[in-house]
Amino acid sequence: MGEHDRWVARDAARVWHGFTQMACYAENAPVVVERAEGHELIDVDGNRYLDAISSLWVTTLGHRVPELDEAVRAQLERAAHTTLLGNGNRVVVELAEALARVVPVDDPHVLFASDGACAVEQALKIAFQHWRNRGVRGRERFLAFGGAYHGDTIGALSVGDGGFGAEVFEPLRFPVLRAPGFDDPECFPTAVRMVAEHADELAAVIVEPLVQGAAGMRIGPPEGFAALGQACREAGVLLICDEVATGFGRTGTLFASEQCALRPDLLCLGKGLTGGYLPMSATVAAGEVFASFLGPDLSERTFYHGHSYGGNALAAAVALRHLELLEARDVLANVRERSTELRGLLADRIAGLPAVRDVRLAGLMGGVELAGPPGARWGRRVCATAVRHGVLLRPLGDVVVLMPPLTVTSPELHRIVETLRDAVVAVTA
Ligand SMILES: *Cc1c(COP(=O)(O)O)cnc(C)c1O
Repeated sequence: MGEHDRWVARDAARVWHGFTQMACYAENAPVVVERAEGHELIDVDGNRYLDAISSLWVTTLGHRVPELDEAVRAQLERAAHTTLLGNGNRVVVELAEALARVVPVDDPHVLFASDGACAVEQALKIAFQHWRNRGVRGRERFLAFGGAYHGDTIGALSVGDGGFGAEVFEPLRFPVLRAPGFDDPECFPTAVRMVAEHADELAAVIVEPLVQGAAGMRIGPPEGFAALGQACREAGVLLICDEVATGFGRTGTLFASEQCALRPDLLCLGKGLTGGYLPMSATVAAGEVFASFLGPDLSERTFYHGHSYGGNALAAAVALRHLELLEARDVLANVRERSTELRGLLADRIAGLPAVRDVRLAGLMGGVELAGPPGARWGRRVCATAVRHGVLLRPLGDVVVLMPPLTVTSPELHRIVETLRDAVVAVTA
């Protein structure tokens, strides 16, 4: 038994992996990471893998970035964590101020949590209570999109569309108004009509700006989002933008809302917020929403919600340094240049393969949809082949996801695309 097999056996015996059938975990040749360097993961046998999914879409500048490592160390000298319930922490104040300077939200106020789903839960509860606080009755429902994914807690699962095993929880999901998915060209005109028709019963609309990630990188037209934002304003319905996946430069601007001319009342952040270092998410509320929660001490206007580790100081320190580095290194310029290059490579080397149905890309958020026969599991098999050749990929069904770090280089992109091409050819021959 090699080191790998030994660790996989220990792993499978005790660790329950998310979104993973544990009965076949070991057979699917999992990578067991021991350490990482830059854009590469190194397993327990010393094999290296190019991390082309950014550790499930969270890593932005790579692993073991000296400045980010140092930010964690420096904060450790002060305090790892102190509660934000009724008390403050200096580095969290600094982070909230830095975020306020860059988020596309008017007069922003930041409520921190730890995972993207929690940021969504907070946004839903804030939107709901906002109308109660203002004495408005009946605005209790949400409008969400087909193909939406907002996380796995019950509220987030309710506004999310089906799929990914959500069906079993159907009795627990609260009903929502559902606009069509981004793959339907009528989705935005329909959503705009629904907002107008249901204005009096809607608390908020929730949408993933520009790209629905988990739906398989479905991209919507920027003008469609702008029309949706306008419809929400006119109907007085709150707009929640879920930028957990698209935030922090992933689509070529710091936030995808900017490309869609959206200024949400509530903005959900997660994944890239700490550069992939530590679990931190945030719900950013516009001043007008925040103001409806102000009232006498201990009054029912208060937002009675908060997580033990919300606003963790180590996470805040690394998130603050990460924001500075995004700007200092002009990371957005690299995203745009590499995106153009990747678009060309995918057109030349991937799109023409007979097994490929569609190629989609926004910034460095890409999906290659395979046209596999039912049950052939091409997505999984293509990714497994790529992993054997040192490029870590993970599919969404038959869509191979391409989510390299935002600092990916040109040679690395060539390597990812060539490895993917070889894997598609080998599996689908
Ligand atoms: C990943 C994701 C979430 C959930 O975030 P977690 O940190 O996994 O809870 C929510 N919304 C979108 C758009 C996401 O991509």
